[in-house]
Amino acid sequence: MHLLIMGPPGAGKGTQAGRIGAHFAVPAISTGDMFRAMRGLDTPLAKQVQEIMAAGAYVPNEVTNQVVTERLLSDDCAKGFLLDGYPRTLQQVDYLDGVLDEGGRAIDAVISLAVNSDELVSRLIKRGSSAGREDDTPEAIRTRQQVYVDQTAPLLEVYRDRGLLVEVDGLGEVDEVTERLFAALDQRAGSGSALVGGAS
Ligand code: ADP
Repeated sequence: MHLLIMGPPGAGKGTQAGRIGAHFAVPAISTGDMFRAMRGLDTPLAKQVQEIMAAGAYVPNEVTNQVVTERLLSDDCAKGFLLDGYPRTLQQVDYLDGVLDEGGRAIDAVISLAVNSDELVSRLIKRGSSAGREDDTPEAIRTRQQVYVDQTAPLLEVYRDRGLLVEVDGLGEVDEVTERLFAALDQRAGSGSALVGGAS
C-alpha cells in the first residue's frame, strides 16, 4: 500500500495520517516531523532547515528528496508507506516517481484533505498558542498558505489526471473526517482500482 496525503497547512493531515497508517499497517512518514526532529542538531544543514521552516518556506528539493529517499529504504517501508507532506513540488513528484519506478512500486492513491481557508487560519493560530510551533505565527501562516497555493496545489491536478486522487472534506470532528476518509478509500477500492482492504 503506497499512499500520499496532501492538503493545505492546518488541514489535519498529520492527525489523519497516523490513523490511516495504523489502519493499513504502514508507517506514516511526515517530512515536517522529520525536519522538526532536526531541531537542536548543531549542524549547518539543521540550522538552515530550522530557519526556512520558521519562515514558512519550503526546504530545498534536494535536501527533502534525500531525506525521504533514505527513509523509504528502511525495512518498515517494505510493505508500503503513507507519505504526509511529500511531494510538495512538481520536482518532488518527478523525483518520487523515479524512486518508486526503480523499486518496482507505484502510488495506489493520493488523499486530498480539503478545508476552507478561514477555518485553516483559525486552526493554525489555535495550534500556535497551544503546541508552540514556531511556524504557526500569523506571518509564517500566510507565507505557508501562499507557498502551498503556488507550489503544491498544482500537484492535485497531476494526480487527478492520473486517476489517483481521492478527495475528502476535512471539516468537522476528527473522527468524522477519519470515517469519511476510509469510506472514500473503500469506495475507490470497490470501484475496481488497485487499492485493497486494510490490515485491520
Ligand atoms: P503544515 O503542512 O501543517 O504546514 P508540515 O509539518 O507538513 O506542516 O511541514 C512543516 C514545514 O516543513 C513546511 O512548512 C516546510 O518548511 C517543511 N517541509 C515539509 N515537507 C516539505 C517538503 N516536501 N518540501 C519542502 N519543505 C517541506
